[in-house]
Amino acid sequence: MSIHIPTYVQRACQILNASGFQAYVVGGAVRDSLLGLTPLDWDVATDALPEQIEKLFARTVPTGKRFGTVTAFVDEQSLEITTLRKDGPYSDGRHPDQVFFTDDLLQDLSRRDFTINAMAFDPVTEKLIDPFKGSKHLKKGLLTTVGNPSLRFQEDPLRMLRLIRFQSTLGFKVEKKTRLAMEARWIRSVSPERIQAELHKMLLGKGLAPALELFYQSSLMEEIVPELAAGLGVSPGDRHPYDLLGHSIMSAHFVSPTLPLRWAALLHDVGKLHSPLRDHATIGANMAKTILSRLRCSNKLIEEVETLIFHHMFEIHPHSSDRATRRFMARVGVDTAFQLVKLRQGDMGGMNKDPRLIIDYGQAMEARFKEVLEQNAALTINDLAINGQDLMEKFTLKPSPLIGELLQYLLEQVLIDPKLNQKAFLLDLAQNHLKSKLENDL
Ligand code: ATP
Ligand code: MG
Repeated sequence: MSIHIPTYVQRACQILNASGFQAYVVGGAVRDSLLGLTPLDWDVATDALPEQIEKLFARTVPTGKRFGTVTAFVDEQSLEITTLRKDGPYSDGRHPDQVFFTDDLLQDLSRRDFTINAMAFDPVTEKLIDPFKGSKHLKKGLLTTVGNPSLRFQEDPLRMLRLIRFQSTLGFKVEKKTRLAMEARWIRSVSPERIQAELHKMLLGKGLAPALELFYQSSLMEEIVPELAAGLGVSPGDRHPYDLLGHSIMSAHFVSPTLPLRWAALLHDVGKLHSPLRDHATIGANMAKTILSRLRCSNKLIEEVETLIFHHMFEIHPHSSDRATRRFMARVGVDTAFQLVKLRQGDMGGMNKDPRLIIDYGQAMEARFKEVLEQNAALTINDLAINGQDLMEKFTLKPSPLIGELLQYLLEQVLIDPKLNQKAFLLDLAQNHLKSKLENDL
């Protein structure tokens, strides 16, 4: 069995070997290579101690030196090199209290989480070291812990989420013994940041639906996103074949795999727990903000998800008029408009609609948006043929909120009739608006 190792990784291993140290490629890179995937990053394990690694490479950064990890730069590329280790007890369920460096590869491999992540490859002898049947499990598409699953999950409960994450990204099955050993309450000792990182990787996976099902079955969903778990047995409305939980899971599974869309699809209908009416979108957007803040997501992601959920009940369709389409795009923003169509496609998938219908809908909407954009009509205040300065000069006004109000009024007129977007027309419209305002104020 041979693995293609990039030259800089081979060079790093040769440098270590030349000083009498062992050096192996380990972890995700071995797993992904055997699966025919391109590894995102390469990890090297060695019996050289962190100080010895630092001496062997010209440029290093002590990224996690306490745990044995040094980042070395080889041929301008960065590479994590970690000393072989055996973990001490995990009294806080987060980090091992102590790590013990070792020269025994087997000890290092047995501290790893799943058999498919516990293989090492020696780039010099081209030998795969696979003490826990990792390559057999890779072929079978099976996830199973190294050693007793219950002990391994108690030791570091994040592994339960890593399990579900790999189930989603690799599309693998979970061995029964491993699945039954999960105890959701153990996750309470894990920080929201670590939980978030695994959930994000899970959400981007191709096997999301079965992973979310195990997330629910194991009660981890109840612990982490109880608002979503509460959808079991709740009807999302007429014409829905699944309950609210099933609809949420299937919508997220079918929507395009970006984080804002996957989160928005998963949470778009949580507001239905509180209201079956259209206001479920506003309620749901607020609930999503609470959920994602609790998981310490970035403000940018929270805002994107909130916006998508807030507008997800939009009524524009491929046969809407130019005017209605333009006003919609101006109201939500051009990028959001395209994202909302993708979200609607996920929503349709979550109602078990015919895939052909979903694809046709997406293509028709995008074509419509492009058509309207090609008309080059104004969609924002910046696209108007006049600006605040023009208004202040013409009507001898001082800077005040009135200027913004006038510009907004002009934009609304131009959205209705794009031909009005000429300086003379706009100044006339502004004059009339100012006049009627003055009359109303008297
Ligand atoms: P990817 O980098 O594609 O997300 P990976 O398997 O490389 O996947 P990392 O988090 O980079 O995951 O970890 C590298 C390796 O370290 C894993 O393959 C596994 O062997 C080990 N590992 C990581 N986290 C844990 C953990 N919580 N418990 C035990 N072993 C772990
Ligand atoms: Mg990795």
